[in-house]
Amino acid sequence: MLRRLAPHDDRAASAGLPGRGAHWLFALLCGFGLGLAPPQSAAAGQCPKGRRAVNHDVAAGETLSKIASRYGVSVSDVEATNPKLDPRKLQIGQRLLVCKSASKTSSPSKSSAKKKRCGRNGRIVEHEVAKGDTVSEIARSYGVSEKSVLARNSGLQGNPNKIRSGQSLLVCVDASRAVNAKSCGYRTPLHRHTVVPGDYIAEIASRYGVRRKDILRLNPKLAKNPNYLRPGNELVVCPDIPPRYRNEIEHTVRSGETFGEIAKRYDVTRRQLLRFQRGRLDDPSKLRTGQRLRVWVDAGLVPGFGAYGDDDGVLKVGVLLPKGYGYTTKPASLRWGTPRAVRLIQTAVGKYWSKNRGGPKIHVGDISRKGGGPFPPHKSHQTGLDVDVGYVLKGPLRDETRFRKAVEGVLDVERSWKLLKAFLDTGRVRYIFVDYSVQQRLYEYANKRGVSEDTLDELFQYPRGKRRARGIVRHWKGHLDHFHVRFKG
Ligand SMILES: [Zn+2]
Repeated sequence: MLRRLAPHDDRAASAGLPGRGAHWLFALLCGFGLGLAPPQSAAAGQCPKGRRAVNHDVAAGETLSKIASRYGVSVSDVEATNPKLDPRKLQIGQRLLVCKSASKTSSPSKSSAKKKRCGRNGRIVEHEVAKGDTVSEIARSYGVSEKSVLARNSGLQGNPNKIRSGQSLLVCVDASRAVNAKSCGYRTPLHRHTVVPGDYIAEIASRYGVRRKDILRLNPKLAKNPNYLRPGNELVVCPDIPPRYRNEIEHTVRSGETFGEIAKRYDVTRRQLLRFQRGRLDDPSKLRTGQRLRVWVDAGLVPGFGAYGDDDGVLKVGVLLPKGYGYTTKPASLRWGTPRAVRLIQTAVGKYWSKNRGGPKIHVGDISRKGGGPFPPHKSHQTGLDVDVGYVLKGPLRDETRFRKAVEGVLDVERSWKLLKAFLDTGRVRYIFVDYSVQQRLYEYANKRGVSEDTLDELFQYPRGKRRARGIVRHWKGHLDHFHVRFKG
């Protein structure tokens, strides 16, 4: 059996920013553009739904087509809303009623802009500036950089703060990308997760690299009874890990195969594999050859997500992480962060020391350079939100200030877990890169110390394998000698 969940196109609906032009175009095609009689109400001073009435006082030298184009409507639109008008006898100061689109303003370059492409997968959209919009917010809502918006709107160059509400800006967007949602802080598009049998909140959170409380905040109805999820229910989520479609398949148990091996094969936890069986499997340790299990596996990426491009950037307002009690630092040129990130590092280290006595100093590595920007060999560390931290080590290497590989016998599991947890407990961590082998040791330690399965499932990618991104603590090559914390902006 193979079932596929239908994709949900919640792009324009969820974000509400761009995409409003379609409404306008629809009205145009269905009504005025075809020369049909306008609704009576328009002539009486009101406009059809989706349009806004404005009075235009004719200025010297204006023609009807000039006026129409200024409001992004056709000449026949203007004629329709002004039935007594004689286009050949326009008078200066004459008042005309224009029904302009409520979400669009004048767009002389509308048709040419629509066709214009920008880059291989790009598409130009027009954004009408709303009250209170800023260029950086607009850029974020389309998942593009502020610089690219400025580059396309020459009038703003040198003075990006001079945008007016009602003004039209051209934005080059990735045509395949969904629009970032306001409820996701304009960081990602909103995704609708369809609950499959066996799903539970911690597991769903880990799929998208978010915390359980993030899901409950976005789905207030669920907060009353988080354990009651029905297959087919939809939850909204701001995914930090790009969403994938899921297929249900049947796995036929082969001779000698164990339950744990099957879970590993499909990159799921044993707990989830058991839940997929919906109570039809009593004892996972007694599998029979030929027995059939149900598994929901990940399929292709849901289009429109991914590549958030938040590794690049600059650090406009940076502060230097000061030297302090209980930690060592890199040279001053390499430890600039956002004021909040620097405070969070200090908070985490402080909290760690409030609960631990003895042991080596914490090794705080690179953050960002002053002003941010590229920081080779790092891919990120550009915006003051990333910090490298050494694992706590034991034995002869414990006081070594350079990062050392945290292999068996060298990693101080207990202290390293406490340090990682101090960072997680700031509540402002987007993700932490930790080598998979280290994840296993930390996970097993935390598990033994009574950390709940829900919390472990939510936080760690382990034991689902490192092929698939899951959880807040995830594998990334090169993180055996330090972990990398990305804070939320
Ligand atoms: Zn790093």
